[in-house]
Formats: sequence, C-alpha cells, structure tokens
Amino acid sequence: MIRELHAFPGGLPLAHYMEWTCGEESLLQPLPARIVLPLQQHIGLPATPIVNMGDKVLKGQKIAAASGYVSVSIHASTSGTVTDIGDHPAPHPAGITARCIVIEPDGEDHWYDIRPVDEYTTVDPRRLQEVIRDCGISGLGGAGFPAHVKINEGVENAVDTLIINGVECEPYITCDDRLIQEKASYVVAGTRMIGHAVQAKHRVIAVESDMPAAYAALARLVGDDIELVQVPARYPAGGEKQLIQVITGKEVPCGGLAIHIGILVQNVATAAAVYRAVTRGEPVVSRYVTVAGAVPRPRNLQVLLGTPVTDCLRTCGYEPQPGERIILGGPMMGQHLRSTDVPITKTSNCILVQQEPEPAVELPCIRCGNCATACPIRLLPQQLYLDTRAGNYDAARQHHLFDCIECGCCSYVCPSHIPLVQYYRHAKSHISAEERRRDGADHARSRFEARNDRLRADASAETQRESAGNTASANSEYVRAAVERTLARRQARDAGPDGETGSHD
Ligand code: SF4
Ligand code: SF4
Repeated sequence: MIRELHAFPGGLPLAHYMEWTCGEESLLQPLPARIVLPLQQHIGLPATPIVNMGDKVLKGQKIAAASGYVSVSIHASTSGTVTDIGDHPAPHPAGITARCIVIEPDGEDHWYDIRPVDEYTTVDPRRLQEVIRDCGISGLGGAGFPAHVKINEGVENAVDTLIINGVECEPYITCDDRLIQEKASYVVAGTRMIGHAVQAKHRVIAVESDMPAAYAALARLVGDDIELVQVPARYPAGGEKQLIQVITGKEVPCGGLAIHIGILVQNVATAAAVYRAVTRGEPVVSRYVTVAGAVPRPRNLQVLLGTPVTDCLRTCGYEPQPGERIILGGPMMGQHLRSTDVPITKTSNCILVQQEPEPAVELPCIRCGNCATACPIRLLPQQLYLDTRAGNYDAARQHHLFDCIECGCCSYVCPSHIPLVQYYRHAKSHISAEERRRDGADHARSRFEARNDRLRADASAETQRESAGNTASANSEYVRAAVERTLARRQARDAGPDGETGSHD
C-alpha cells in the first residue's frame, strides 16, 4: 500500500546545490597531526575524562565516560598519546573554548579490543540501549541528542512508528545521501535493530525526492518490514516535527515530544552507527562531512572526529581568500566560524565556504506577515521579534520561543532584512543562562544549608560524647550552650586566615 503523504505549514522551496557532491564517492580524510575531542559533542552533560595526560590510548578506547542519563561517552578516534586535557577552541559562532582531550596520533591507527553484541534479536532491548550509550551514539543528523535516551523513551512508551530520517533538506548538504549510497546495508540493518529495541509496529525510512541514487540503494535492501518513502523536497522537511507531519499527518503538540504521539525519529547516520555498535562493538569515531560551496574540489569526506576543519578544507583544495566566510552546517542553520582551527565533532555535517554577503541594513518591520506565512511551526515570528528586541523574555516564552527550531525561514523572507533568528538565539541563550545562574544559586544555597545542618549534627554528637562523662543531670540549656561552643570552634577552625569561610564540598 502506498502511504499517503501530508504537507506541513510554511517552509520554502530552496535550490539544493547537491549535484557537486552527491554523485562523487567519498574520500577518507587523512590522519591529522593532532586530534582534539571536546567532552561535549551532544546535548546534555559533558562526558568525564577517564584518562590522564601521557596515557597511551587505542582507537575506539573510551576516554571520557557519560556523566549522567542525558550524556554519552567519548572515544579515541585514533591510537596515540593523550597530550592535554584542557580548554581549546570549539566550533561555536562566538569563538568560545571548550574542555577537550587532545591526542597526538602514533600513525598506527590501532583498534582497541572491541566486542560485538550477541545476535541482537536475542538480546534484551535494555542491553542494546547500554551498548548504544557506551558507543557514544548521539543524533548524527546535527541535533546531537543522545540516541539511547530517545530509545529508552521509546521502550517506556509504546512506539507505533519508527522513522529513520534521511531527508537532507538544507542546500549543499549531501553527507547522508552519500552515506546511504555507500552504506545502505548499515542503514537498513540499523533500522531493524532500533525497531527491535523499541518494538516499533511500523518502520519507515524517509529520503527526499531529489535523492534518487540513495532511494535506489535502499530499495534494493528493504523488505516487507520496512517502508521506504520519498518526501517532497521542501525546506525544512527534514526537521523532526515536519517529517512526522509529512509521513503520519500527526502534529507534535507544542512543548511536547514525538514519543508522546507514539513516534520515534532517528537519523540515517545514527542508524548506521547503531549497526556498527551492535555488530562490531564499534563506537562513533568518524563521520561523513560534506565540504561544499566556494572550494575547488567539493566532496564528501569520511573524517575522524577531532580532525581540524582546516585539514578538511585543505583536502578539498581550499586556500583562505579574503571576503569569504566559513559555515559549519548548512546556509540556513549553520554557524559562522571565526576560526577553522576547530575540530569536527559528532554533529558536524557540512563545511560550507561562501562569499561574505553585502551587509544588509536592518529596516523597521513593515508588518507584511511574510515571516508568519513561512514559519513551519506556526509561530508569530514578528511578535517574537518585538518581544526579544524589547528584552521581554517572559512574553517571548509565552509566544513559544522555545518551540522555534531556528530554521531561518522567517529571516530568509523578511523584506526588512531583520536577522530574526539571531534575536531568538540571543534570547534563548539569555534565558538559559539566567536559569543556570538561578539553579546554581539554589544549589549553592542548599549545599550551604546542608553543610550547616551537618556541622550542627556533628557538633551535637561531639558534645553528647563530651557530656556523657559528666553528670547525667546536665540540663538541656547546658547541652545547647555546649553545642553552640563546639559549632563556633569548628567554624573558626574552617575559616581561612582572612576570616572567609572555605568550602571543600
Ligand atoms: S517578515 Fe519582517 S517585515 Fe514582514 S512582518 Fe515579519 S518581521 Fe516584519
Ligand atoms: S526560525 Fe523559528 S520563528 Fe522563524 S520560521 Fe523557523 S521556526 Fe518559525
């Protein structure tokens, strides 16, 4: 039966510029002189280093462990020596640094002793989740959400439909297209494994209508258990909520998750990574990256994580030119890089070189409504702009700021050249920083109060021990006074030389 497809609101028919890279076989990016692996390449808590400077490590060896439920491990992407654990430039538009583990490769690329899982159909789905977490698999489509968390939610809630997302809707990006053409069997097997883990009733692999070679590669392998669907090429059809709407006709409620309506979405590269993890015990140490735009030899590369962006550009014949800008990601949602001396991470899908556009003068909003028509989430971008520009963040939240997927459709169509998404991103960062600051203050207050309670309890126990040797008729006034004295003694002892109370909690 042919599945009926649905439309999502808004969106844009963008030119795709895929032809330069999707037909060319991918190249293996050479081993770099230095591998820099950020501890946070995913949404959630950064991983915790479990190696020290000077340690010899092997390819695929876990070097940082997941530090919470929403976190994944990090693995050495080649063999070599750990030369630093510290702050290094990270792929971020503000050019900030992030905590990283640095490896000097030994050139051998020797693998760690990795082990496959037994036949996956006989293994408890929870064991599969552990493997997926331990192999460091987070959404490789660019979102970076830990895959095991989504799968766990899928096990907890009945999954009706598993959608494997191969819809690359941003212009220039073809890394998933190439991955499917070259590793279709991994994608199909990974789909079956995730489907088994969450016991999905329906399994769908979706590609865009302008990916005929990828479609053909998959069509040769899927059986009756997997439905292969081509969705119309309209940006941002690859967004999770939009793809769900196109394929099922269902809308994910505002502030809700796909799993709340019985749907689990994973990217095609994530499915391929699950296949590698289960059949070989292989963690995520490399990924496909599209290098496109104004480079002499645009291409898809298979890149070890931690390789500098500069090296990838050099492989494609690029030499820096004045008046150009480098974007990590696509032209709609990517980040402008201040420096190319930053590493490829699990979420880096594209390096795009573009001419710096003529600076556009931001004009007043003329209330044309184009932005609202283009918004695929049915938000009110103009209202969000007024809220965020005025610093009225409560109002912005009420207007569903955090449902904005930062697709850039509103900015793209705005005749007044208002960089709307930049206003939203700034507001989201501001609100998140405020929440972190407030949570931090609450946490510090609770720690302070808990410490005082502990000191009182210790002092009381100490005093009771002291008074046990004294007369049994010691009255409560005496005990309370003794407790206060002991407490004062301890606080004086804990105070620093300048009288400031230190904390070693
Ligand atoms: S598209 Fe630009 S000018 Fe038009 S309503 Fe939206 S913000 Fe205002
Ligand atoms: S960036 Fe946000 S507000 Fe603008 S069109 Fe996309 S989802 Fe809507």
